[in-house]
Amino acid sequence: MKRLAAAAAALAFATGALAGSDCDIAAPARIEARALRLPPGRTVGLALGSGSLHALAHVGVVEALEDAGVKVDVVSGTSAGAIVGALWASGIPAHDIERLALQSDWNDLGTLRLSGGLMSNGKLRTELEGILGDRPIEAWPKRFAAVATNVDNGHPKLLMTGSGALAVQASSAMPAIYAPVTVGDEKLADGALVQPVPVEAARALGANYVIAVDVAYRPYEEKVNGITGYAFQAMHILVNTLAEQGYVHVDPDTSMNPSTLGAALHAAGAAVLATDLVARGEIDRAFCAVRPPGHHASRSAAMGFCFFNNAAVGIRHALDVHGFERVALVDFDVHHGNGSEDILAGDDRVLMVSTFQRELYPYLGDIPLGPNMANVGLPRGATGEALQEAFEYVWKPRLDEFRPQLIYVSAGFDGHRADDMGGFRWVDEDYAWITRRIGEVADRHCQGRVISTLEGGYNLFALARSVAAHVRALACP
Ligand SMILES: [Zn+2]
Repeated sequence: MKRLAAAAAALAFATGALAGSDCDIAAPARIEARALRLPPGRTVGLALGSGSLHALAHVGVVEALEDAGVKVDVVSGTSAGAIVGALWASGIPAHDIERLALQSDWNDLGTLRLSGGLMSNGKLRTELEGILGDRPIEAWPKRFAAVATNVDNGHPKLLMTGSGALAVQASSAMPAIYAPVTVGDEKLADGALVQPVPVEAARALGANYVIAVDVAYRPYEEKVNGITGYAFQAMHILVNTLAEQGYVHVDPDTSMNPSTLGAALHAAGAAVLATDLVARGEIDRAFCAVRPPGHHASRSAAMGFCFFNNAAVGIRHALDVHGFERVALVDFDVHHGNGSEDILAGDDRVLMVSTFQRELYPYLGDIPLGPNMANVGLPRGATGEALQEAFEYVWKPRLDEFRPQLIYVSAGFDGHRADDMGGFRWVDEDYAWITRRIGEVADRHCQGRVISTLEGGYNLFALARSVAAHVRALACP
């Protein structure tokens, strides 16, 4: 177990922020673990963020959780958070981790060799291999993921299987200081570039409750020395500055810049405004030309380019504020509207009918979540004929039986044959056709009331033509 001290020392050397052996590991453990009241049957995740030497404070956190009897099912870690997370997830009790960390001789730094002009943090891996042994991550008592960054494409890489020591080494390979670490055919660097606090990684491991621990090193508060210290300081300033300016990765597909929140609020607000206008009888048809889209956003999570579920917000506004009793949602985006289903399933005031490509993101929809869901999964390559059959044999009977007082449309145009986000082969006229059919249902049951809101559509030429066809069919049935 002495090797742990050496591993911690190698990390500490990397930080260039050592001030002797008096770091207060227990201090950040003042978490009110006993106050956590987690419902039974939930999967609890612990996300341990980066923070160089400060991340040793995670030891105090896991200790407090153990002492309070909080059962943690999955653990994710970034950079130094991955070191503590890996040790704990592999089955080493928190008190042992603390004792070893406190016993470390922080001045026994060992040596680091050069690799391709950069230093190698291979020593960290060697030491961790000594502690963790041969058991792969998937054999550990807790599920675990270390977050690294693919340096070729900038995407997060979750290391959830194989060598835990290699995963932690990759997650801790600070760019410009340490050489990237090759895992499989990918070159990986420090995960703090993409997920400083790896909440998404914990969710990917199956957690629906995540305890996130951010002990990040705050710049400007301490003096740093040495080339590594300055390099770390520069990276922390960059990461903190981007976060303060509003650049945030929500998931591998979904990022925010300083304007995103405002745009997302306007997109959901457009659905509310359209609903108000239709409910007051000022208009009977509306198209909300908005981005970001909404139908992947669930009750609790933004994902798949979506932040607020615009259609679901509008529908709930119609039901809860304007007193509608039956609202239908039609979703013909190539991707399944999993967020809309999450929010609306089981609400018998709503009927959702949809088509989507099977075995495509978000890989859901084949099993409807409620009796008010009519999900029609179609194979890759489906043409407009498949859409017509879905309407005639599934949607239309259900809609006529439901007798909606208002119809919402999640209008995604990424099923167009020119759009390579999906594999459908629909054409402009298919969107006009389905829009006319929806309009006829609306004419039969709800004085023509239809509110359509833009979802996907990524080939801009096909999108422009298809939206024009859709709006024309809405406006001039
Ligand atoms: Zn889509």
